[in-house]
Amino acid sequence: MKKIKLSKLAFLTAIAALFLSNGLSAQSVNDAYKKPKLVVGIVVDQMRYDYLPRFWNRYGDGGFKRMVAEGFNCKNNHFNYVPTYTGPGHASVYTGTTPAFHGIIANDWYDKTIDKSVYCAQDDNVNSVGTNSDAGKMSPNRMITTTVTDQLRLATQMRGKVIGIAIKDRGAILPAGHSANAAYWFHGKDEGAFISSTYYMDELPKWVTRFNKSDAAKQYKKEWNTLYDIETYTASGTDMNNFEGKFKGEKDAVFPHKLNKLWKENNEYDIIKATPFGNSLTTDFAIAAIEGEELGKDDETDFLAVSFSSTDYVGHQFGVNSVEIEDTYLRLDQDLERLFNKLDQEVGKGNYSVFLTADHAAVHVPAYLESVKIPGGYFSTSDFKVKLNEFLQEEYGAKGLVKNFSNFQIFLNYEKLEELDLDLAEVEEAIANEVVNYDGVFEVFTAQEMRKHDFTQPVPYLLQKGYNHKRSGDVMVVLEPGVISYSRTGSTHGSNFNYDTHAPLLFFGHGINHGETTERTEIPDIAPTISALLGIAFPNATTGNPISEVID
Ligand SMILES: [Zn+2]
Repeated sequence: MKKIKLSKLAFLTAIAALFLSNGLSAQSVNDAYKKPKLVVGIVVDQMRYDYLPRFWNRYGDGGFKRMVAEGFNCKNNHFNYVPTYTGPGHASVYTGTTPAFHGIIANDWYDKTIDKSVYCAQDDNVNSVGTNSDAGKMSPNRMITTTVTDQLRLATQMRGKVIGIAIKDRGAILPAGHSANAAYWFHGKDEGAFISSTYYMDELPKWVTRFNKSDAAKQYKKEWNTLYDIETYTASGTDMNNFEGKFKGEKDAVFPHKLNKLWKENNEYDIIKATPFGNSLTTDFAIAAIEGEELGKDDETDFLAVSFSSTDYVGHQFGVNSVEIEDTYLRLDQDLERLFNKLDQEVGKGNYSVFLTADHAAVHVPAYLESVKIPGGYFSTSDFKVKLNEFLQEEYGAKGLVKNFSNFQIFLNYEKLEELDLDLAEVEEAIANEVVNYDGVFEVFTAQEMRKHDFTQPVPYLLQKGYNHKRSGDVMVVLEPGVISYSRTGSTHGSNFNYDTHAPLLFFGHGINHGETTERTEIPDIAPTISALLGIAFPNATTGNPISEVID
């Protein structure tokens, strides 16, 4: 009897010890929901994961390296849907789900209900603020689920401020969500100003007007030369090659790029977008927002969503292997350091949390791949359409069966099918069997398949996550790896392959553990991770999960 009691005591002691070592102490229970004063979400447009290791030795201590040194690095982070474009990317990061749910199926898509092409952030029911142009007629109206930023607004009774900033409208609008205080984006041309829409406000706040009046963008009308001696850019190809696009008026796509001289020919302030100066300008404006909106100054958590768009413009023009890309990332690293230093100063070290990811990655220029014997090539959309229409004419004796081909989706003409008494499923199937044989085509799936099966195989799985019953097309075409529909210079993106899906994911600051993982994480995991960190409800259609190693 005594013996049993003793062992019972030993058992209880062991349990207590276990509880004390693994459980929460009274102090940490109190701190369990201690929130950061500010969350800064950073999306780098078109950033490949390998830009971290590729340029690692060239980065300073205060930017990317600081995030890794102090925070958490998810090394195997992927987009889990197609198409990997900017609109869907930003929406997926912030809604924690994929186009199947949030409805942003592309940047532009054919809207079958109104028989015309629409833009993801376009809104004809609102007006521009801060510009005489129509560039402000934008809102998140086409995104049908909530964002982590919306959930923060709901959780704080609208007291936590949410501000979205980017050069591109969609890069500012979609992250900021439906209930944001403001989203600002850059209007180039002859204006060079950050603008907004009546969706958010009737007029620009004073700090924005002041920023625009200071002609902050004008300081970047200067020469773009490499930050360091060009001979040290060994992580890139040679500056002179056949795989890069030129600015209008340039003889070759080589340094230095003289913005002063190229100004008029390249739409004035628009030229800044395709240089690293666009990211510096974005940083200037983000810093002005931190000051002007007093972000992170009171007890309610605020959210600053910043997207660096210029990395995408540079990638599209010069390609992922260019000296221009290397220089753009070395300069972005300095801009990040500048932003983090400002946050340390204004909000305080340890009082804010940051994540950094991309909206998609990008492919090596296929012409370059071909030149080093790696498979890749180009796909002609117009040839594809001609061949497909010839087939349909032969098979069904009718013209105009295809209403639209966009984003590698075929939209069929339902009225015509009915007129000819054709079965939609059969026509979809016939098209799939035909076009799979065309040059450059890898796989073809029909809408019927998307709806009937629950795919786990990589290609159809990613298609299905991007397939929206109401908005997507009837037949989905997947190109071969390394094959793109694009000019022979510069890089693009949009596919299901690793070069487009593998993107960085870094966290640092308040509530973030130090570490790294090579376990697969997916873009929709970001919003629930931040929601868990903030102790707020997940965005309403989240399909991802919090990454427990980051915040546990
Ligand atoms: Zn792009």
